[in-house]
Amino acid sequence: MTKKLFTDDAYLKQCTAQVTATTEQGIVLDQTIFYAMGGGQPGDTGTLEFDDQFIEVIDTRYGDGGSIVHLVAEGTELPAVGTEVTATLDWDRRYRHMRMHTCMHLLGAVLKFPVTGGSVNAQKSRLDFDMEDTVDKVAVTEKLNALINSNTDVSSVWISEAELDAQPELIRTMSVRPPRGVGDIRLLKIGEIDLQPCGGTHLKNTSEIGTATVSKVEKKGRQNRRVHVVLAP
Ligand SMILES: [Zn+2]
Repeated sequence: MTKKLFTDDAYLKQCTAQVTATTEQGIVLDQTIFYAMGGGQPGDTGTLEFDDQFIEVIDTRYGDGGSIVHLVAEGTELPAVGTEVTATLDWDRRYRHMRMHTCMHLLGAVLKFPVTGGSVNAQKSRLDFDMEDTVDKVAVTEKLNALINSNTDVSSVWISEAELDAQPELIRTMSVRPPRGVGDIRLLKIGEIDLQPCGGTHLKNTSEIGTATVSKVEKKGRQNRRVHVVLAP
């Protein structure tokens, strides 16, 4: 099992780690700052450095038994098990994911409907809502930026599976269920604005999101509205 350093501190840009396994796709480390694809957020990219060699990490995915695999291009020479590496994130890309991801929590707080899907991307993101009525882009943009400009701190709260089972209303995203059987579950708390289970990487404060714009609202079936958001560069 790979220790997820990004859960406790999403702002770590570099760490040292030890190679615990290599697979056909890539490299497993004992601990990592690389977020593995999940919950609509892409896997991280960056580099692993050892013995004056640099390996490009092209994506990060979950492997077997809670391991995190740092994917490399085909033909890359892999380090031996036990090698110490320095892992460095493509921080600009990841920071945009953090801004977008935190912004999607706020979008869900503006539009209080069940979320049926979503995707976080460095350039644009979207959430799908189970709702019949369409929404006004300008009005949602205004409400979203008011929440961003509230300068609200973002924090984590850990609860047991039993505590979560007692509060099923906390799970708003129907398409992404929290993992079971791996211990306590992290709730992401954005002041009094939003509280829900989430394993993604987030900002410390909503103000870091910058200016957000609802760029498009699409009708995806009678009960579904897809809301797209872009951020200022
Ligand atoms: Zn989240």
